[in-house]
Amino acid sequence: MKGGSILITGGRVIDPATESDHVRDVLIEAGKICRVGEAPLKGNKDLRTIDARGLVVTPGFVDLHCHLREPGFEDKETISSGARAAAKGGYTTICCMPNTNPPLDTRAGVDFIKARCAADGVVRVIPIGCITKGRKGLELAEMGEMARAGVAGFSDDGESVPGSRLMRYALEYSRSFGLPVIEHCEDKALSADGMVNEGRVATRLGLRGIPAAAEEIVVARDLSLAALTGAWLHVAHVSTAGSVELIRRAREKGVRVTAEVTPHHLTLTEERVMGSRWGPGATVDLGPSPLPPDAYDTFAKVSPPLRTEEDRKALVQGLKDGTIDAIATDHAPHTWMDKACEFGLAAFGASVFDTSLGSLLGLVQRGEVDLPLIVSKLTFEPGKILSTSCGGLGTLSPGSGADVTVFDPEAEWLVKEEDLASRGKNNPFIGSNLRGKVMATIVGGVIVYQDPALQARSRP
Ligand SMILES: [Zn+2]
Repeated sequence: MKGGSILITGGRVIDPATESDHVRDVLIEAGKICRVGEAPLKGNKDLRTIDARGLVVTPGFVDLHCHLREPGFEDKETISSGARAAAKGGYTTICCMPNTNPPLDTRAGVDFIKARCAADGVVRVIPIGCITKGRKGLELAEMGEMARAGVAGFSDDGESVPGSRLMRYALEYSRSFGLPVIEHCEDKALSADGMVNEGRVATRLGLRGIPAAAEEIVVARDLSLAALTGAWLHVAHVSTAGSVELIRRAREKGVRVTAEVTPHHLTLTEERVMGSRWGPGATVDLGPSPLPPDAYDTFAKVSPPLRTEEDRKALVQGLKDGTIDAIATDHAPHTWMDKACEFGLAAFGASVFDTSLGSLLGLVQRGEVDLPLIVSKLTFEPGKILSTSCGGLGTLSPGSGADVTVFDPEAEWLVKEEDLASRGKNNPFIGSNLRGKVMATIVGGVIVYQDPALQARSRP
């Protein structure tokens, strides 16, 4: 990808790498950040200008966890459609999970994803390789050859590694590559056929529950194994207050652990399954719910399940105190048929690239977190986690690749199914009014997405 010269003028530039937050111009030349400085910056003549007055300019968003479904499930999403949705959501680098068909557990699989991205992907895609062959949890996959082919880490996402000894070996091997083992923490023997968080809502709707302990048992085991091996554990989609506390204590003891949380676990609670928008503690009116009460809304069926308001608050606190490093989408697109069925049969997962930023800015608008923190958790912090596989992400430092996101923190929009770029329309925010919208996404100096409202006010 080769980019031209772009001047982004007059925006609020937030760069977590240098903790700077000022109105600045950003000059991009030859695909790199050339200068960030006080206006007016001057560039060469055939410069493209983006008028960013009133807008926020940040490093491109980095997603540690998404599902692009290719190969094998192209009816849900493809690398092409998923990358376009990511770009519309402000993401410039995304990591795709290996639970495809076949699962991504060999060098050939990694090469396939890379070739497809080069041909069709508008954003940078870094694959994650399986921990075990075929994600079967029986023997380790060829981790070394996948590491050399450029994976971001290893995960059997959707499943935990069932055996403690095998997980120990996975951690020991991964240590020699400087890559994390990314664990989907769920004790399947305990979660069994659960569908929602075990608690009040499960009881009221008569749905089988998944207790918080199903997650925390595996988090605790893996933290012990990370301490034992000195290897790097990354906990995917943390969802409970207990997990946050376990990770916090392990970090204090010096265990090498990082963690991520999804936009929906930060903003929605188990009540959403019944059609209620926000948790009971919500103070912002997002308009009438599109769903009747007791709706059994399959769009809110995710794994791990949406939890209680107390859990949600603990996740926000974990984000603030550094226990949780990054916000990762767990973008999980599905077909209509996967979701338009009875609750028990519906697939787990939410398609959220389109709404990630808008939903997260709700936390800022409600005064729960400040904007630079959200930006850091979307850019610099996940960029650090990817530094072994792809360095220099999540910063606007001169000389780094020009991955830039421009968004309007005040733009209000109604989330409509027909407007979603993802092939998966299973977005739990459909029908909600969100405030905060991506206006432009730039990858390596190339504008890969631009909102029509911005196009109208910027020069070619
Ligand atoms: Zn998962």
